[in-house]
Amino acid sequence: MRRKLIAGNWKMNKDLQESEKLVSEIIAGLKKIEYDKSDVLICPSFVSLSDTYKQISGTPLNLGAQNMYFENEGAFTGEISANMIKSAGCKYVILGHSERRNIFHESDELINKKVIKAIDSKLTAILCVGEILEERESGKQNEVVKSQIEKGLAGVSSDKLINLVIAYEPVWAIGTGKNATPEEANEMHKFIREIISDLYNKNASDEMRILYGGSLNDKNCEELLSQSDIDGGLIGGASLKSESFLKIIETSNNI
Ligand code: PEP
Repeated sequence: MRRKLIAGNWKMNKDLQESEKLVSEIIAGLKKIEYDKSDVLICPSFVSLSDTYKQISGTPLNLGAQNMYFENEGAFTGEISANMIKSAGCKYVILGHSERRNIFHESDELINKKVIKAIDSKLTAILCVGEILEERESGKQNEVVKSQIEKGLAGVSSDKLINLVIAYEPVWAIGTGKNATPEEANEMHKFIREIISDLYNKNASDEMRILYGGSLNDKNCEELLSQSDIDGGLIGGASLKSESFLKIIETSNNI
């Protein structure tokens, strides 16, 4: 039985004070709802990680970073290592987000190095994949996602998959208010399971947590999260307000 994972990706939002406020609201809200069937993760900006970690200590909230570099240390100005985010309390790291791929031109090869480093460092990597609008319109979505997964997981052996989560995020649905229909999303999640089964085995595919991301919110979460192959959400906009994030967590628990 796969546990649901509800992950908030705050992107480049919330300074220290705003982060502290949002985390306080989430902690207070969690005391009033049932969420024992779901894991909850928040991924603030790098500067807020350390303070957030102190704030969430003793709560079941998990902490994640939005990116990292694959080298251990050295002359890589502006980058952050796996050990650094771990020392700030992170258990998870988002890798290959479409904004990293499209705005910062991260290649599948670079993302693969990061995935390997994250997993070897005992972080859980959330590998994001998804097609852009033109690719969906020309029916290439399966081809694109397959290639991103095969390249992203090159050299990752099956015993390491315990530290991997995949997030399917159709790029045309991120931050646009347009979400994939629950059927479209579930179909892709099933396809991703087939890819994992082909690359590894059926057991690995059955156990892999696959999140949906792309304008998931408190209104559409029930339909999306109740699909057979959707194991949670990677949530941008709706994770920036405690009410909507808490509602999604609560809904995930009741499915
Ligand atoms: C995301 O940041 O991964 C995301 C899916 O954003 P949004 O929920 O705002 O579409």
